[in-house]
Amino acid sequence: MAIELPALPWAREALAPHISAETIDYHYGKHHQAYVTNLNNLIKGTEFENLDLIAIIKKAQGGMFNNAAQVWNHTFYWNSLSPKGGGEPTGKLADSFKKSFGGFAQFKEEFTKTATTTFGSGWAWLVQRADGNLGLVSTSNAATPITGSDRPLLTCDVWEHAYYIDYRNARPKYIEAFWNLVNWDFAASQMA
Ligand code: MN
Repeated sequence: MAIELPALPWAREALAPHISAETIDYHYGKHHQAYVTNLNNLIKGTEFENLDLIAIIKKAQGGMFNNAAQVWNHTFYWNSLSPKGGGEPTGKLADSFKKSFGGFAQFKEEFTKTATTTFGSGWAWLVQRADGNLGLVSTSNAATPITGSDRPLLTCDVWEHAYYIDYRNARPKYIEAFWNLVNWDFAASQMA
């Protein structure tokens, strides 16, 4: 059972001007695709060959873990973005921001800080803890919350390949642009 590269949930140019079609061509077409290709080569003929992606992530180590987790993380990231995104959430997500962070503005400030200060390559995550409260997590390289008890709701990829074409070294400008694309409906749909 080969792992497949899922289709993007929008057209490659749909996130411009915040994220360009050229970034998507490389980030999805080259990087995400490479993780899928590498993973399929690594699981071929092994006990992992017939497992689904999440089962591979929970069991694998080293290069196989890195490629499998990056396949999953990127699909989750594409779903976290929408050309119709941005603004502020409503409903249960807005209520949870108030309860866990004091409000949306405080959440936005804290998430921005988490994304900005993630050292080197990694990911910033909004998660729902086992007790139902929301929290923020920074992971390095391919690390992903799904190996633990946190439930991911939203992610921002802060690897340089996510922003270097559009913003060069200016990660804060990319994170500012990210807020125009956040898919709150997706984040709310991931809540327990
Ligand atoms: Mn990436």
